[in-house]
Amino acid sequence: MTTTHNLGFPRIGAQRELKKALESYWRGDIDTEAVAEIGRELRARHWQLQQAAGLDLIPVGDFSWYDHILDMSAMLGAVPERFQWSGEQVDLDSYFRMARGRAPSGEPAAACEMTKWFDTNYHYIVPEFSPGQEFRLSCNKLFDEVAEAQALGYRVKPVLPGPLTYLWLGKTRQGDFDKLELLDTLIPVYSEILLRLKEQGVEWVQIDEPILSLDLPPAWRNAFESAYNRLQLPGLKRLLASYFGPLQENLTLACRLPVDGLHIDAIRGGEELDTLLSWLPGYKVLSVGIVDGRNIWRTDLGSALQQLAAIKEKLGERLWLAPSCSLLHVPVDLAQESSLDDEIKSWLAFATQKTEEITTLRQALDEGHETVAERLELARNAIAARRSSDRIHHQAVKARTATVSEAMGRRSSSYQERSPKQRAWLKLPLFPTTTIGSFPQTAEIRQARQDFRQGRIYEADYCQRMQEEIALVVEKQEALGLDVLVHGEPERNDMVEYFGELLDGFAFSRYGWVQSYGSRCVKPPIIYGDISRPEPMTVDWATYAQSLTDKPMKGMLTGPVTMLNWSFVRDDQPRSETCLQIALALRDEVLDLERAGIRIIQIDEAAMREGLPLRKGDWAAYFEWAVGAFRITASGVADETQIHTHMCYSEFNDIIESVAGMDADVITIETSRSDMELLQAFEDFEYPNEIGPGVYDIHSPNVPSVEQIVSLLRKAASLIPAERLWVNPDCGLKTRAWPEVEEALEKMVTAARLLRS
Ligand code: GLN
Ligand code: ZN
Repeated sequence: MTTTHNLGFPRIGAQRELKKALESYWRGDIDTEAVAEIGRELRARHWQLQQAAGLDLIPVGDFSWYDHILDMSAMLGAVPERFQWSGEQVDLDSYFRMARGRAPSGEPAAACEMTKWFDTNYHYIVPEFSPGQEFRLSCNKLFDEVAEAQALGYRVKPVLPGPLTYLWLGKTRQGDFDKLELLDTLIPVYSEILLRLKEQGVEWVQIDEPILSLDLPPAWRNAFESAYNRLQLPGLKRLLASYFGPLQENLTLACRLPVDGLHIDAIRGGEELDTLLSWLPGYKVLSVGIVDGRNIWRTDLGSALQQLAAIKEKLGERLWLAPSCSLLHVPVDLAQESSLDDEIKSWLAFATQKTEEITTLRQALDEGHETVAERLELARNAIAARRSSDRIHHQAVKARTATVSEAMGRRSSSYQERSPKQRAWLKLPLFPTTTIGSFPQTAEIRQARQDFRQGRIYEADYCQRMQEEIALVVEKQEALGLDVLVHGEPERNDMVEYFGELLDGFAFSRYGWVQSYGSRCVKPPIIYGDISRPEPMTVDWATYAQSLTDKPMKGMLTGPVTMLNWSFVRDDQPRSETCLQIALALRDEVLDLERAGIRIIQIDEAAMREGLPLRKGDWAAYFEWAVGAFRITASGVADETQIHTHMCYSEFNDIIESVAGMDADVITIETSRSDMELLQAFEDFEYPNEIGPGVYDIHSPNVPSVEQIVSLLRKAASLIPAERLWVNPDCGLKTRAWPEVEEALEKMVTAARLLRS
């Protein structure tokens, strides 16, 4: 018999129950017992659902109140000093204080950092290690949940991040030391955890080491062997799980480690299966991650079975089946979906359906295809229909991408030639001031959008409300004395969703929520078909805004790479092809804006960096098409038209060359939190075009002082020639409130004026 399991199930709940419970608890509306009860219900429901689908081993420990890496920090007692933790058990409020800086009880302190979980849009809480860091078993959550699941009768498989991955993801505080040195103090606590699990009667434990799909320094690779040698415990079997990419040079290492089984991501590393089979020792189980845990498409069960048959032949009972990674990264249940039509729905599978796919595969393998003939046929038909559907394939779109020329990705002149032509008509002062695009999304704006969506007001009324808002922000910007204005984006609820809804080839689910961090979820658009633009998307708003002022109005678009990276993408063509289709649609929009008299156009690429592959060796290929797509979007315009781009993060050192390769006339970036330090990368590289380093942090309601801004700008001017500097906030202002925005922008304009004189 083949064993089936899940690496993890989404914890947020089909109706985002966890989100709602957490937020009520933080607000003080419900107490610890009430929130604990909601957690218990969610766990019980998800275990039951997986059991009912027919899984053999049910994951426990994948549920988390905030984040599974933070859970590990709590379990290990790795609580930074500033949280004044008693050193006993890490209670729920100490845990929340680490995550968010505050909780219903206890003294607030600066929250721990949060960062991206590998190449997903999930964010984890970064462990902090200080010199002499100790670890001690400090939280029983995992053991309690194991007991809870056992009491309900489930055959459980606890899951926890492995020691190497845990250390790798952490950061060192105070003094630079090699965090790998902490392994010696860490391993005994892991041993203790394993012992406790064994005493609870656990047979298998899953230890996640996804860093095996990264480029690892030799010392880290070497550390694996000794760590896992020390983590042996007769009577408890360990499944080592790697995912998110092929193992490559870590393959033999992973096969050799003294554990009882290995899980691999056969979606992203399927080509390694043969090599793996030849290296895998005869006593080990191989868990094949055959269902895509990172995307929402229905599995082609037929071809999966073909692939698996040969492996089954070789491994027999040692073959296990699972999704490629935890299902944390997909929505919970397609069945409740009400806003996707039946045809699109028939192509999709969310976590619940993916779990069922795993058990269907098992049954077909073990008991013969005929025992699940109906389900296999359903899958086959859906796959075939998707392949040939005319909702997906549009000849005109494909023909257009096929004829894209190199020249389409090049402005007709260099920045040096374009710049004087732009300056000639723009006539901007030194240190020109602008903003990143959005202004506060007030309750009234959101209400109007909702009223319109739900049919309570007519389109004409909605447009009028938005125009009023645009008029208001134009007036405010003029009063503030800003140099380049924006329309404020009141009509956009989200920078990707807005465009996705206006483009062909995108679909939107109603409940397709995926956890982004803590209680925050995102609902990524689904790119299912060839992308085209039925009609202009922003021209009316932009020209209306321009009609209200003599100052230049900046058009505002979301770039192709960001649209792609924040969506679920097609798996039937390369990402680069989808990106190019978006780029061409946006190129038309850029040209329409230009024709309509909008001669500064910003193309936001907030997620350019997020799309970076995990392995450095793959970066060049990514940038080639990603930067290429941006350039296709931007390059159709005349020399006089000024292209801006915006990126909101603070790490440019290793990507600066590609950023320069985008050849935007102006780039605005986030710099204030790093005290302009990141401009160093631009100076070192001699970044040739104009830069607007963010002079104040929009993530906090604090209003900067004029002196602070002046000093930041002085610092910037010491690194970048003043004639190439712009003055702007770090990012869009939509999450802020008007009073602080007006005050901050007033200070910003004053600072720019001071510097000019
Ligand atoms: N133009 C967008 C805004 O101002 C940019 C947002 C972003 O970069 N995340 O909101
Ligand atoms: Zn931004």
